[in-house]
Amino acid sequence: MHEFSIATQVLEAAREAAADHGEDTFEGITVSVGEASHVNPDQLETCLEAAADSTVGEDDLTITVETESAYAECDCGWSGEPETIDRALAYAPDLTCPDCEDRLELATGNECRLMSVTIPDEDDDDTGEMDANGAGSDGTTAESPTENEADATN
Ligand SMILES: [Zn+2]
Repeated sequence: MHEFSIATQVLEAAREAAADHGEDTFEGITVSVGEASHVNPDQLETCLEAAADSTVGEDDLTITVETESAYAECDCGWSGEPETIDRALAYAPDLTCPDCEDRLELATGNECRLMSVTIPDEDDDDTGEMDANGAGSDGTTAESPTENEADATN
């Protein structure tokens, strides 16, 4: 199942992020699902719950799934939400700018990302929530291969 493999990757990335902070477990994660990623947020959440139980041993993990709008910017200055999302392919959306008809690269909305990991906080201050982007910007992109090289500028 597509969502299940993503869930497994997300949880693995969360565990690595927690390990970076000296923790061997975590109690909450926030995941962003792009509208153009072809991932069903509800299914992903279900899979995260199931995967957390079996792979992390966390049956009370707090899971937050957010959706992220697709957004693109064009060299001509146009930016916004492309209207051709429905027929875009998950890996290589073929989108064109409504102004100049150049090919658009999605800036957001085409991937699933681990946004933050909540780790246990003994001191009960505000350091429990941390940004996982730094730890996982290479490894947590569960959906897309590296698709952001700006070849379109040539
Ligand atoms: Zn344009």
